[in-house]
Amino acid sequence: ASMRDAKIKKTKTVCTYCGVGCSFDVWTQGREILKVEPQAEAPANGISTCVKGKFGWDYVNSGERLTKPLIREGDKFRQAEWGEAYDLISSKMKEIQQEHGSNALSFISSSKTTNEESYLMQKLARSVFQTNNVDNCSRYCQTPATQGLFRTVGHGGDSGSITDIQQADLVLIIGSNTDESHPVLATRVKSSHKLHNQKLIVSDLRKHGMADRADVFIQPKSGSDLVWLNAVSKYIIDNDLHDTAFIESNVNGLQDYLHGLEKFTLDYAAEHTHLSKDELIKVAEMIASAETVCSLWAMGVTQHLGGSDTSTAISNLMLITGNYMKPGAGTYPLRGHNNVQGASDFGSMPNKYPGYQDVTDDEVRRKFEEAWGTELSSEIGLNNHQMVDAIHEGSLKSMYLKGEDMGIVDSNINYVHAAFEKLDFFVVQDVFLSKTAEFADVVLPASPSLEKDGTFTNTERRFQRLYQALEPLGDSKPDWQIIMELANTFGADWNYSHPSEIMKEAASLTPLFAGVSYDLLEGYNSLQWPVNKDGSDTPLLFTEGFPFPDGKARLFPVDWTKPIEYDAEYDLHVNNGRLLEHFHEGNMTYKAEGITSKTPSVFLEVSPELAEERGIEDGTKVRLTSPYGSVKVSCIVTDRVKGKEIYLPMNDSGEAAVNQLTSSKADKDTDTPAYKEVSAKMEILKAK
Ligand code: SF4
Repeated sequence: ASMRDAKIKKTKTVCTYCGVGCSFDVWTQGREILKVEPQAEAPANGISTCVKGKFGWDYVNSGERLTKPLIREGDKFRQAEWGEAYDLISSKMKEIQQEHGSNALSFISSSKTTNEESYLMQKLARSVFQTNNVDNCSRYCQTPATQGLFRTVGHGGDSGSITDIQQADLVLIIGSNTDESHPVLATRVKSSHKLHNQKLIVSDLRKHGMADRADVFIQPKSGSDLVWLNAVSKYIIDNDLHDTAFIESNVNGLQDYLHGLEKFTLDYAAEHTHLSKDELIKVAEMIASAETVCSLWAMGVTQHLGGSDTSTAISNLMLITGNYMKPGAGTYPLRGHNNVQGASDFGSMPNKYPGYQDVTDDEVRRKFEEAWGTELSSEIGLNNHQMVDAIHEGSLKSMYLKGEDMGIVDSNINYVHAAFEKLDFFVVQDVFLSKTAEFADVVLPASPSLEKDGTFTNTERRFQRLYQALEPLGDSKPDWQIIMELANTFGADWNYSHPSEIMKEAASLTPLFAGVSYDLLEGYNSLQWPVNKDGSDTPLLFTEGFPFPDGKARLFPVDWTKPIEYDAEYDLHVNNGRLLEHFHEGNMTYKAEGITSKTPSVFLEVSPELAEERGIEDGTKVRLTSPYGSVKVSCIVTDRVKGKEIYLPMNDSGEAAVNQLTSSKADKDTDTPAYKEVSAKMEILKAK
């Protein structure tokens, strides 16, 4: 081999761009990323990847990477050494704790960082500061889905694996632009649809790629999914199409559930969803007659005032039709970030320790107190959303946030920015100087996934290892190391020399993944929780019943929360979501040349009807204004949207940032922002 070949290094890593959790070898030479090479043995993707996984990596060498800690001086930052940054953080946070108590401090973990790092973040908040004010950004997307599953089936994760979805007779996709948001998973569904006669029902506001190939595509009114789901359930039961044997043996609560369904007649549903009765009956009959059904959903369901209830309604429908406890069936909330599942699994939540153990449970708390050698608080902490309010109210004074561009991705960002400005002390740890970091007092340079070891958990509840391919750039460090060093400045005595030791500790305290160890995760090996002490895992949940005392699932009646409607002034509904090429707010993918060359900026989708009415053409620049802010963006005219529905991708962090428009209104059960309930008015700025 030539000299050049000799220096090439291949490292197994896990993609960080969505919850599918594709794994592959990355080829590097020095700091140069040569290519990504998929391997057949990769459990979630085999030899497939999408454009983000393939080309989205050169951001790690971006000149904009943070390589030194930064300390604010007036309007500017100056570079500092780690010691000085730690000393400052330590003295400021201690001061705030002494003056205002532990609950004046808050901690935010990230679903872009590893399981081990989320574990340490909640351990820092809880054991060093005695507060449960710790959360992660699944609050922005998937917490309602988890809530719906906890209510009904007791585990907050996908029922099976991606291969199970492929086995289903019928796939039901609700409020998920799967094609662009979870591309490799979508490819697998497309192939079973095409080759194995799988049926596909899609419900969405927007006629996206999956809708195009669906056997049945329905376009209900925004925020009305719960209505059609309940009406379909009622129709199925009224017509005796439900699975009575399954319900009898495995499900509680049918009578109360039936009572809750009374008002959801086909007439009621037709009136509120704008679907026809024929469409509703067709959907009901397809679901009832299929042997196996998998339901997939994402933010089109969760980001509403009633997001938890709609997620619950999906699970109820699967229960009455016997679509749990077997391959090819069940519920699949599609996790957005690569580690949305893991960030919550590892306890960065205000009410739960790792493995969803309650902070209010005395026995559980004593276990953690013993292991960590300190007293812990039994008071449920604040979630992200409540933190922002608490800052405005003056009770929350400090925030330590890692890997999360909350100043872009939270809703109503003008309100969030005002909160950041009110903080007495704000520490942001990230790979880039994000919008959020611009408000910080101290910015700590973190290392991205290619520069560290650890594990992620994908949407299938699958633990996978990532191995360090590159040295941390400049003085940046892996998040786990920074959190540990910071904890030690407060007198903790943490001595982890590798993330495997953190995992060992977490597993020893968490029945849900008691048997997880790095030995069992070597290379492309993976484990799906629950993982028993002996290392056996659970690709398919619920095969032996549901994790409730009597082993039975619970039907949970849910009523409809009417969405925020557009009115005479704010007369358009702004839907929002992803583009294939970009990742969320774009702060990584916008710095990846391989991607920006393909999709440089966002555009607003406008229906042909609206375009005609307002005189809009491709390229027309408009201003959208909601009661909370405004954006400027260029239009394209497309029949993917209809009527007064307009669609703004969420990947812009500048003048087209959708969260200038969103409100602080949130899901009533989990405080997940109702991003999808936005109305706005439109002004034409200039023709193209
Ligand atoms: Fe990465 Fe998701 Fe694409 Fe797979 S499908 S390569 S995990 S972004």
